Amino acid sequence: MPTHPPTAADLAAELERLAAEYPDLPREALLKEAILTSGLSFSADALRLCRDKKTKSYFIFSFDMVPIAAMEKDEHRHAPEEIRFHGGAAAYRPTVVSVRVNPASPLRVEAAANSLALRLGEEDVAAIELLPSPGYYQRALRSGQPVHEVAPTIEWGYLIYLTVYRKCQYFGFNEECRFCDINANYRQQVAAGRPYRTVKPIEDVLEALAIIAQTDDQSRAYTITGGSITRHLQGQREAEFYASYARAIEGRFAGRWIGKMVAQALPEDDQKRFRDAGIRIYHPNFEVWDAGLFEKICPGKAAYIGQREWFRRILAAREIFGAENVIPNFVAGIEMSRPHGFAAVDDALASTGAGLEWFMSQGVVPRFTTWCPEPLSELGSSQGPAPLAYHVGLLRVWRDTHRRHRLPVPPGYGPPGPGRALFSVSAFMDVIEAPTPAEPPAVPTGAHAP
Ligand code: SF4
Repeated sequence: MPTHPPTAADLAAELERLAAEYPDLPREALLKEAILTSGLSFSADALRLCRDKKTKSYFIFSFDMVPIAAMEKDEHRHAPEEIRFHGGAAAYRPTVVSVRVNPASPLRVEAAANSLALRLGEEDVAAIELLPSPGYYQRALRSGQPVHEVAPTIEWGYLIYLTVYRKCQYFGFNEECRFCDINANYRQQVAAGRPYRTVKPIEDVLEALAIIAQTDDQSRAYTITGGSITRHLQGQREAEFYASYARAIEGRFAGRWIGKMVAQALPEDDQKRFRDAGIRIYHPNFEVWDAGLFEKICPGKAAYIGQREWFRRILAAREIFGAENVIPNFVAGIEMSRPHGFAAVDDALASTGAGLEWFMSQGVVPRFTTWCPEPLSELGSSQGPAPLAYHVGLLRVWRDTHRRHRLPVPPGYGPPGPGRALFSVSAFMDVIEAPTPAEPPAVPTGAHAP
């Protein structure tokens, strides 16, 4: 593992080296992965300019590299949800990146007059723009909850993120995924005064969506998600609990957005519940390909379902949603985490590449988020991210595998390609060159996925 965080000089040199080694990848994707793996630091003046913009909603995990207790500038209240960098000496095309607070990062957001700039050490790298806070964000629902807590939007306004259950029933060292801080983040956010509730009432979700439907023309999709339910929640098992939200949303706003569900790889009858409730895209996230690492890093999932059965259910979902609408996520980088992960970049790429080949040769396109070592998670408490070289190498492996199997652009992420992609927690959409995005319609069709 490299030193974390890297010095500005080391990171600049590594970006140059990788740009020379990967001339076929857009420079924007390299800088995006550097921002995601190193995090961002903010000057006090920059944070002042962020205050009336769209700030971090903490939509599920912390996605920060320090706990709130270590944020001396109250970054948890003022840092933006995302930045879009552009310009600079490299003439970067506009690129959206999720913000991960790291006061020690060499990548700094600084104020220059009334605008923001991204700097690496003493060098100006790019200009930065932020999204204004949507007019509806501060509106209060009848329950008193603000819309930004119930239905925040990410991906530059494209995706409404509905974490309807803010905890996970995989709990403690023997069950919780070791890269995940969902339960610890819940505790730190509540202690910091954020109005988190364990379960979002369906009425609140519908009321917030009604406001968004009336006032917003950017959102195209929603995700329903939350922690795994291994027993019952409010008397319901996992599929029924999450499907009840989809049913209510589609009953009121049929086809207004693309409905996506992040849940475990559930048996086929449960998957059909999601589909029949109106869900069009299913994300049964497998987290890591290597079987031994899955056992060690995802002990709860391994014990309750097991990787082999998890994969079988992913493939079975093709018959229910259509193969292009089954998009499992993995957390890129945890395959190199200590103490069990691969030590060499090439070995990690070979392993994950084998997984991508296995899925994509069967029509399923996994996507990935770039691992953020969150300090309140088990793995993130003792180490930094995987090397930037791994993340850049993965972009090429992913793109080449996707291209070789002539697979469609994953639906539900907005436009692909450099200068256009909106997906903000990894650069996989930035490396797809596609003139016409294969996007399901966001207008009412009355029809659900096959
Ligand atoms: S299943 Fe794992 S990754 Fe998902 S919320 Fe629970 S602990 Fe986190």
